[in-house]
Amino acid sequence: MPETKTAVPDTMMAWVLGNPGQLTLVDKPVLRPGPAEVLVRVDACAICATDLEVIHQGPPALPGGEPPFNRNFTPGHEYMGTVVALGPTVDEYAVGERVAVEIHAGCGRCERCRQGMYTSCLNYGQNEGEYSKGHRANGFTTDGGFAQYAVNHVNTLVRVADSLSDELATLIVTAGTAMYGLDVLGGLVAGQSLVVTGAGPIGLLVVAVGKALGASPVILTDIRDDRLETGQRMGADHVVNASREPAVDAVRRLNGGRGVHYVVECSGAPDAVNEAVKMVSRGGRICLAAFAHTPALVDVEHIVTNNIYLFGIRGEGRSAVRRAASLMAQRKIDVSPVHTHTFPLDELPTALRYSRERIEGAIKVVVKPQMASG
Ligand SMILES: [Zn+2]
Ligand SMILES: [Zn+2]
Repeated sequence: MPETKTAVPDTMMAWVLGNPGQLTLVDKPVLRPGPAEVLVRVDACAICATDLEVIHQGPPALPGGEPPFNRNFTPGHEYMGTVVALGPTVDEYAVGERVAVEIHAGCGRCERCRQGMYTSCLNYGQNEGEYSKGHRANGFTTDGGFAQYAVNHVNTLVRVADSLSDELATLIVTAGTAMYGLDVLGGLVAGQSLVVTGAGPIGLLVVAVGKALGASPVILTDIRDDRLETGQRMGADHVVNASREPAVDAVRRLNGGRGVHYVVECSGAPDAVNEAVKMVSRGGRICLAAFAHTPALVDVEHIVTNNIYLFGIRGEGRSAVRRAASLMAQRKIDVSPVHTHTFPLDELPTALRYSRERIEGAIKVVVKPQMASG
């Protein structure tokens, strides 16, 4: 018999969300994995801008279809760890393996899941009580990774290369989102021109993945010089500071006067869609990957008369995470410039402040639930 578990405690430290903005470190029971599930000891969990929204505003986190406040809910969705127990029927993974965890596990039975579009599962949030359909989104509809352990479906696991540190392995899912964005644009980006608008973690990873897949040139726009410098370290051929020159003009100049093939919009800025449709050539394709917070007035005439395609993505679908992990294992992309800070789990409030206020140039801030606090 293979080993199916190591010693696992009955309780763990976990942060839970009370009222908006109010996090408390509590003892929570460690759940046991069911069929097709494993228990993951969380070794690292990165903070994402969406976590800050969940903690302060609630949505897009909707456990049981309700706002996440005062429900004993644990946020955190970009985590990795070590398999420590296997549920019934699991032979895909072994105890002791290091894994990164995709956020979404679809129900597996709806039309979208059957098409492989599990991040668009039609049973989103249906994971509680008598009528559970098994959908999970860690840190959104089910408990997430700001805790010492988490139960996960085997479909969401991706093996982590030994060469990758825990901190960098949390970026596998982010790289998977970047890969999924390039997938929806058609995926054949070698030799094609690509603009990435917005140098947050996803934008920086789109630069790296696009470059690894052969896109040329890769142009990054943002309004922060330090982030543009990081983008150059990630492989951007050109960077444009949009606070100093009109980004559309700069992109056209850098691409020989023509529009580009693809734009991946990662800024969420109010006029980002109108700028993106002017950056692509006729017939160009645009992927919207940022959560924008204000409705935008969009130049539909320009889009239609120029046959421009617009796509929105949610998360990290179509097994893109596995392919992104492979690129990282092959050292085709180096995500190390994106990780900037690490804290133990009990210093999560400080870690969140570093992330929110970008203290000391913070980009990706990681908490380590197994690390002793200093
Ligand atoms: Zn995220
Ligand atoms: Zn589904």
